[in-house]
Parts: sequence; structure tokens; C-alpha cells
Amino acid sequence: NTPVRDRLRIAIQKSGRLAEPARALLASCGLSWRESRDRLFCYGESLPIDLLLVRDDDIPGLIADGVCDLGIVGRNVLEEQGSERASLDRAPAFREYRALGFGGCRLDIAVPDGWDWQGPQQLDGKRIATSYPALLSRWLKAQNVDAQVVLLSGSVEIAPRLGQAEAICDLVSSGATLSANQLKPVTTLLQSEAVLAGPADALDATRGELADLLQRRLDGALRIRHSKLLLFQASRRVLPDLLPLLPDAETPTVMRLDDGDDLALQALCHGAVTWQRLEELKRAGARGLMVLPVEGMLA
Ligand code: ATP
Ligand code: MG
Repeated sequence: NTPVRDRLRIAIQKSGRLAEPARALLASCGLSWRESRDRLFCYGESLPIDLLLVRDDDIPGLIADGVCDLGIVGRNVLEEQGSERASLDRAPAFREYRALGFGGCRLDIAVPDGWDWQGPQQLDGKRIATSYPALLSRWLKAQNVDAQVVLLSGSVEIAPRLGQAEAICDLVSSGATLSANQLKPVTTLLQSEAVLAGPADALDATRGELADLLQRRLDGALRIRHSKLLLFQASRRVLPDLLPLLPDAETPTVMRLDDGDDLALQALCHGAVTWQRLEELKRAGARGLMVLPVEGMLA
């Protein structure tokens, strides 16, 4: 019997790769907190939304048990624990609500540099070291490959050198760790990034409303993350040359400056507005170019 809560509780990583970006993203949604002395709990001040700071592996379980309402965690962790539950015939208790655009990485199979990779069948009868046994087993089954899964909690990349396994299945971002260990990635099991996770079933009314509010703010925050507002002037006849240079912009607002051909334009660009782009726009006839940061957006 869990007592009724009227505050929303979000689990995030206490320290590690996702800790800072998760807090920064929530702060950009207007959340602020008072931190407890033991640094495990942050009490929401601007909204009744509190944070629980935990190991990332604990986040799906905290959602499943209803201790937390939402969590920010790598898709790899969520999918691994989801697959594990499924393999034990347990009902799904949590799911991905939305991707958050940071913490990107892949769950890859990697083999020694010297291997001439022919395909998954090559793993037949081999040992594969991983911290993701459920995802790896599911993949091996789908590929119809009979390999032995060697479970390691860390330093998976040195397993081949230690003779514990022939191949590995691990998270890769730049690939530098792999090549430092004379391994090469050969196939991807999962494209991962940080995600907002929540219960498979709907939240109750009060917390559901808070979760909706947060998700609407996240929509806005994620849309403007790389967006800039571009202001410039141009004469009407160069517009056909200018607009193709703004493929990532929403339909620009166009204002007539006087009775003549002069226009003032305002375009919200979702891609990077580099010096090079500004120079191209200028060559195509744009004048008085100005790039402004976008602080907030509510569609
Ligand atoms: P915790 O102490 O919370 O258990 P951890 O050591 O399990 O931390 P981190 O190494 O901080 O976790 O990684 C957290 C998440 O960051 C990963 O689950 C993954 O989603 C993401 N990530 C992004 N790039 C990488 C990478 N190159 N290696 C590992 N994780 C990565
Ligand atoms: Mg962890």
C-alpha cells in the first residue's frame, strides 16, 4: 500500500555521464530544487517535482515499484531490464516516453581486429562477454546463433585479451576504447541515448498532469536546443536565392519595410548557424544579418 503522493518524483543518475545533462535539461524546463544534505534527494521549489539521485541501473526498478514516477536513463539500461522481465514472463512495468537527445551511444558486437567478419554466424560456439545479457541473448536467438554469454559488470573490453571470451557486446560511442584494445565493432544491437521513462500504466490524475506539463516543456526545450533566430534584410528579388540556404528554417516571417522591394525577414533555424552560412547568405544578398539565441518556445 503506497501512500498517495501529490508531488511528482523523477529518478536521475547521481553521478556519471547522464547526471549533469539530465539536471540541466530539467532546469531548462524551469525546475529548481533544494538539495538534501546527503545529496540523494532534491526538493522541487518552483514546481512540486522532486528528484531522486540514484545509480542508473536502479531507475527502471524504481519506476516499476512506483517509488518514482519518471526517470531519465539510457535506453540500453531500460531495454536490458525490459528484456529481462520479458524473458521471465513478467508484465512490462515501464516504457520509454521520449528520447532526450543526449548520451548517444550504440550497443555493438566487437571482435578482434584480425577477424575477417562474415556475419553473426561466425559467433557460433564462441564466448561473448557483456554487461547486457538479456539484450545479447535476445539478439543471438533472433540470429539463430548459439554462443555463450559471459556476464561481466565492467571492463568488458579487456575480456578477449584475458582469454575470458572471443568477442564482446558493449556500449560504444567514439570507438576509441575498442581500438585501444585491438577490437573492432562489427554490428549494432541497439542505438541508444538518454530517454524519459515512466510506468507502462498511466499515472494518477495529479501526477499525470504534472508529467504532462513537464513533457510539454521538454518538447519546447528540445526543439530550441540548437535553434537560433536569424534576422536579416533583403530585397524581394533575391528571395529565391536566399530561401534555399535556409533548409532547416521554419517558414520565415516576412515584413515589408516600405513601399519598395525591401523586406525584413525573421527565420527560426533548427540547425547550426555557422559563420560560413552567414557569409553565404550575405553573398546571396542578405543584409544586416543578426543571430539571436532562443530562450524559450511554447508551440
Ligand atoms: P552508475 O554509477 O549510475 O551505475 P554507470 O557507470 O552505470 O553509472 P555511466 O558510465 O555514467 O554509467 O553511463 C551512463 C549511460 O551513459 C550509459 O548507460 C549509456 O546510456 C550512456 N553512454 C553514452 N556513451 C557511453 C559510452 N561510451 N560508454 C558507456 N555509456 C555511455
Ligand atoms: Mg550503472
